[in-house]
Amino acid sequence: MTAADAPAPKDFIRDIVHADNEQGTYRQRVQTRFPPEPNGYLHIGHAKAIVVDFGIAADFDGVCNLRLDDTNPDTEETEFVDSILEDIRWLGYAPAQVLHASDYFQRLYDWAEHLIDAGLAYVDDQDNETISAQRGGFGRPGVESPYRDRPSAENLELFRRMATGEFPDGSRVLRAKIDMQHENMQLRDPVMYRIRHAAHHRTGNRWCLYPTYDWAHGQSDAIEGVTHSICTLEFDTHRALYDWYLEHLPLPGDKPKQIEFARLELTHTVTSKRKLAKLVTDGIVDGWDDPRMPTLRGLRRRGYPATAIRDFCREIGTTRTNSRQRIEALESVVRRQLNLTAQRRMAVLKPLKVVITNWPTDASGAPVVEEFPVSNNPENPADGTRLVPFSNELYIEADDFAEVPPPKFYRLSPGREVRLRGAYFVTCTDVVKDAAGNITEVHVTYDPATRGGDSPDGRKVKSTMHWVSARHAVSASAALYDRLFSAEFPGEDTGDPLDDLNPASRELLTDCRVEAALADTVPGDVVQFERLGYFALDPQTPMLFHRTVGLRDEWAAIQRRQR
Ligand code: ATP
Ligand code: MG
Repeated sequence: MTAADAPAPKDFIRDIVHADNEQGTYRQRVQTRFPPEPNGYLHIGHAKAIVVDFGIAADFDGVCNLRLDDTNPDTEETEFVDSILEDIRWLGYAPAQVLHASDYFQRLYDWAEHLIDAGLAYVDDQDNETISAQRGGFGRPGVESPYRDRPSAENLELFRRMATGEFPDGSRVLRAKIDMQHENMQLRDPVMYRIRHAAHHRTGNRWCLYPTYDWAHGQSDAIEGVTHSICTLEFDTHRALYDWYLEHLPLPGDKPKQIEFARLELTHTVTSKRKLAKLVTDGIVDGWDDPRMPTLRGLRRRGYPATAIRDFCREIGTTRTNSRQRIEALESVVRRQLNLTAQRRMAVLKPLKVVITNWPTDASGAPVVEEFPVSNNPENPADGTRLVPFSNELYIEADDFAEVPPPKFYRLSPGREVRLRGAYFVTCTDVVKDAAGNITEVHVTYDPATRGGDSPDGRKVKSTMHWVSARHAVSASAALYDRLFSAEFPGEDTGDPLDDLNPASRELLTDCRVEAALADTVPGDVVQFERLGYFALDPQTPMLFHRTVGLRDEWAAIQRRQR
């Protein structure tokens, strides 16, 4: 049911499951679920939950289902349902079943009548604001609704009329009758049902009563046979209510238990569907799959391997302490994996033409073309080498040349000798400029004795540069990315993450020249452009490469500083 990962290290949730197995609580049965609300695309935070839910089921030979928590008719769309399943599969997991909370609407309704019969639920005719105000707060007493002691028969009749659509939205709710003075606010007569005359993406106009999260969640777990209902820490205070409902209902089987863990949050980004949706609707990014988005679609388009996301989620562990992970740590895992798999290629993002003035011509007078073998991946000799053409006209990175070199600049400049990777040493003799004074070409001479990139007399050069043969190169574009939010904790100062947007999070380079071999790249494949980073070919736009990550391991530097 899951990608073949090594079992995750032990954590407090696995300890609980293990103890339940030892004690036979669920007769060795382990069942989890991943319960997204289909109101947006999955993000890296969901990946953490998926890795926990599916991972634990796999480690204990259990089952993990996908449950679409589709109890809110206003925000849900079929588009999201399809994408959620696709993203889970991409991440490497296969739900045992795909289930919908909306399939339980009738059962929940019947159970609500059961609570009414038992004197444990009542219809409240007050509006939302009044009910909220009466709830009180920490250290502030709750106020009982004047409708709290309605007889069961009257509650039942009103509830049925609510269900048949007799009353307008917001006119009445059904509440559990628990304790208006409970120190846990969740137990101060929580709302179970609201009237909402709205079509639901699956049940259409069958219902005009919709259950709240708390009334639907634990009951859905129980209906499905979930044993361990794993959720995030903000539901901590809801657990008492989760248990209260289950204790007062005639359950078909085992009583599931809710376990909470800390959400995954990353620096320089947001993991909230609502905030991500805003980036899309405001046109700040190109869509949910923009490579700057922390959505699974965005990360995938950016070139993040699913295995790297899974490894990261496991390596950070599962705890009950809220903290933000550094995005550099995720990038480090991505880089570590791509280093092993990505084919090396040469690409010039900002081309500057170099002409070798002493290059030989063949019998017909045309410049000679040589081919140099270059390793496809030094990390994996089995990937072999390829032949890269070299001739008198080349492109190098404009940044690799300086007419007047600043201090510590060791790359090409007038009079200086450098190595063209795997080919020859060249020395700059001249620069050619246009009328406006812009450098259009650099002239060099090469030393035939340095063929293959080494000098027989042991002469040293301080710099090795990548290049492509001008005649053989193909055109491409590249998108370079910086942090989507410049602040580590977006919104920390003002409360609105959008205040911390990085206005320069994308640089698009449309005049790149790359090795012809790159024309064979399969969309979605990630290659390493030597000296520049890892790049993923866009699935739609031909020859558009997204920089997945650079080559420098910033995470290692951060860890060194922290020691
Ligand atoms: P959002 O705030 O982005 O809408 P959510 O919690 O409302 O997130 P759901 O669709 O309800 O999103 O989440 C499905 C599951 O994923 C839940 O079990 C939820 O706890 C978990 N989840 C969501 N975000 C994170 C996160 N950042 N880290 C870990 N788990 C998460
Ligand atoms: Mg939610």
